[in-house]
Amino acid sequence: MKDKKSMDILKETSRRWLHERGVEIEDIAKLVMYLQQKYHPDLELEECIYNVERVLTKREVQNAILTGIQLDRLAEKKMLEEPLQAIVEVDEGLYGVDEILAFSIVNVYGSIGFTNYGFIDKQKPGILQKLNDKSSGMCHTFLDDIVGAIAAAASSRLAHRNEGQQ
Ligand SMILES: [Mg+2]
Repeated sequence: MKDKKSMDILKETSRRWLHERGVEIEDIAKLVMYLQQKYHPDLELEECIYNVERVLTKREVQNAILTGIQLDRLAEKKMLEEPLQAIVEVDEGLYGVDEILAFSIVNVYGSIGFTNYGFIDKQKPGILQKLNDKSSGMCHTFLDDIVGAIAAAASSRLAHRNEGQQ
């Protein structure tokens, strides 16, 4: 019982933190649509939302969300110690730990996720472009990779499921 309660807290908090950082489930679902529409022309946003919801129930995904957002928030408040503070605050290109953390999400539904993640990270459509806008004054060094990874994992889930139906 106690364990179920702590799982509920993880789930609820990770979703709330995404919302507080300006990311809605629908924003991520639109990225899934962007990735999968060419393979499934009849794909509807509802199905993308469903797959994002499923990804968000995974504990490793919730852990990555909480860890990444916490570091972004601390960097915004200048509460990390140097030299980490400067690295995270300016989203230094060679840092790479933000991507490594996101890989724990990409992995959840198999290796197609890696291809999707790489693609969407280069294109930066929709919410990813917004998160990368440095003029907002917010720090999304970790969050942009996490959101791209959730979309990539949801796309893999959707692709696997459709394959199974054939
Ligand atoms: Mg990043």
